Amino acid sequence: MNVLQPGFGTRFHCCASCRHFSSGREEGKIFSRCSRLGYETKAKYQFNCWDPKEKVKRKISGVFPARKEGE
Ligand code: SF4
Repeated sequence: MNVLQPGFGTRFHCCASCRHFSSGREEGKIFSRCSRLGYETKAKYQFNCWDPKEKVKRKISGVFPARKEGE
């Protein structure tokens, strides 16, 4: 069963907020890539392999707090 991360489909869901995203400058050119897959990507791209950074997870849980039993 594929369980999607909380935050899918929200403004947080993009490669830039994924823990596998890396960017910088190489040989004078700016790069952005997925360190997990090894491909070039763009910060705004959205994929189902998204794994948000811890600070993004905290932000999401503040925006979408988990429901407590009985609510
Ligand atoms: S391609 Fe998937 S794993 Fe890689 S940075 Fe983007 S969302 Fe994360």
